[in-house]
Amino acid sequence: MSVPASTSCIFCQIARSSTSTPLLHSDEKVVAFQDIKPSAFRHYLVIPVEHIPTVKDLQKRTEDFSLVNHMLNVGQTLLCRDAPQPTQYRFGFHQPPLNSVNHLHLHCLALPFTPRWKSVKYLPLGPLGGFIEVEKLLERIKPLAAASIPPKV
Ligand SMILES: [Zn+2]
Ligand SMILES: [Zn+2]
Repeated sequence: MSVPASTSCIFCQIARSSTSTPLLHSDEKVVAFQDIKPSAFRHYLVIPVEHIPTVKDLQKRTEDFSLVNHMLNVGQTLLCRDAPQPTQYRFGFHQPPLNSVNHLHLHCLALPFTPRWKSVKYLPLGPLGGFIEVEKLLERIKPLAAASIPPKV
């Protein structure tokens, strides 16, 4: 579910290039830029151009799945360019209420964390929420195959 772009949303303004933030990537679906307060050697954000508030607004459907997949591809390409292997990467989202800005943004990190304690912000906290790694989210919103699988209780 998307809601109309809010004029007060800083990420919508960045996506429309109405700020001085330099874009590392932009296409019709997503834009990427540097986190203003980097927590790692490289720390980029990839956001959808469309205003989607949080991971809770993503659903099991092809559209959402391919959007997140595309965000990941863009992030991987940028990190591979700027922080070549064997650097360790981490990709994921903060889940509400721990997200900072209410416009979906994929954190793309090339380690090490700077300073090191920052890593706590990007640790999955299991059922408590917190940070969700992109693979986990993709699994969660993967559209169901035609054959129905009994829901997990
Ligand atoms: Zn927005
Ligand atoms: Zn965040």
